[in-house]
Amino acid sequence: MPADFDTIVNLAKKRGFVFQSSEIYGGLRSAYDYGPLGAALLRNVKDQWWRSMVQLRDNVVGLDSAILQSPEVWVASGHVASFSDPLVECTNCNTRSRLDKLDDPEQCPSCGMRGKFTDPKLFNLMFRTHMGPVESEENVVYLRPETAQGIFINFENVRRTARLTLPFGIAQIGKSFRNEITPGQFVFRTREFEQMEMEFFCAPDESQQWFEYWLDERRSWYLDLGMTADNLRLRPHGKDELSHYSSGTSDVEYAFPWGWDELEGIANRSDFDLKAHADRSGKDLRYFDQPNNERFYPHVIEPAAGATRTTFAFLIDAYAEEIVNEDTRVVLRLDPRLSPVKAAVLPLSKKPELMEISAPLADRLRHRWEIEHDVTQAIGRRYRRQDEIGTPFCVTVDFDTLEDQAVTVRDRDTMAQDRVSLDKVEEYLAERLPA
Ligand code: ATP
Repeated sequence: MPADFDTIVNLAKKRGFVFQSSEIYGGLRSAYDYGPLGAALLRNVKDQWWRSMVQLRDNVVGLDSAILQSPEVWVASGHVASFSDPLVECTNCNTRSRLDKLDDPEQCPSCGMRGKFTDPKLFNLMFRTHMGPVESEENVVYLRPETAQGIFINFENVRRTARLTLPFGIAQIGKSFRNEITPGQFVFRTREFEQMEMEFFCAPDESQQWFEYWLDERRSWYLDLGMTADNLRLRPHGKDELSHYSSGTSDVEYAFPWGWDELEGIANRSDFDLKAHADRSGKDLRYFDQPNNERFYPHVIEPAAGATRTTFAFLIDAYAEEIVNEDTRVVLRLDPRLSPVKAAVLPLSKKPELMEISAPLADRLRHRWEIEHDVTQAIGRRYRRQDEIGTPFCVTVDFDTLEDQAVTVRDRDTMAQDRVSLDKVEEYLAERLPA
């Protein structure tokens, strides 16, 4: 059963995962701030992506390109001319809506009036600003609406300096900005967000094979990190949905509380991007294949995922409620690799003799993992809080510890408790917390 949307949003706010941006000023719509736990969860999602896409692969390298780029980039990529949505405005309440997202193209979703829409206008989604002190058309720059173009324009720099031969990939994680007409569903669609994108360059006749390879790899990534298989699907785009340059696109979709929606798009982009930049810049961006002594444009497979959106999906998927001793227990069954806190060290009371053991233990464990040393409230409430934020282990120092030099380690999912010798706690956790 999918988790209730409001429940997740409330938990995210209550526990400090996500705050509305500029809250003390009434909030800025469609921008969010990640609190201590949210920042950790988001970072863990990005780290897992990087590990799987870059660190564990011989033929994929990383990049961190600038958000501000030459405006020529966005002319070449087609974003200046056509990165736009059809917009209609209701003449009754002045609300603007995306025509392609309306259930009924005649009816305003805001005031309910029919037949009051203006003719659709194309609205470009890129944020424009000016570089330098003069606000003139010559100084226009855009906040990047995707990280991908930063990769294409560095194709030759990276290939040469990293001495890469086909097939190879360039990966990057970073902020993107889109002036979305209909942001919403919490952090699902925002105007500032983070993406995790990789461009995989290959010989043209191998592109279909690599496309299928990456569909499989990317689907497995979500499953390996514990996403429920029934909530995940690959949906191939129909012919009418395909971009003009794409010979195949599939979306990884998640069963959100409002229905299936996109987490990631995986596209076979052919040689469109490199050719477009070569044409506009006048630089030869063809690949030289030494063994066959020929030059050609590689084809590209692009798995493009949203880091913030995916983090939200992991949060929804992990949420569970269960009845324990006639009480409802809320537990985030996050994969331990994603959990913001890996273990909580909890002295049974604030008595100095317990704190003298728990504080140094927490400090010792902190060298390897994110640890919370929580000394407030009754122990039951502290367990409940750790369950709610997805902490895999609670390590309790009690009065028996003074006698037996051992602590109780409680497992989040089974609630089973093990008595573990103080000098074995690190080993115990290391066996159960994967990298
Ligand atoms: P959508 O149709 O959902 O707006 P898209 O097809 O335009 O997305 P892409 O351009 O393929 O998205 O971007 C790749 C990924 O970046 C998306 O799958 C999504 O995870 C993320 N993404 C795109 N736009 C946003 C946004 N406004 N807010 C949060 N994440 C986004």
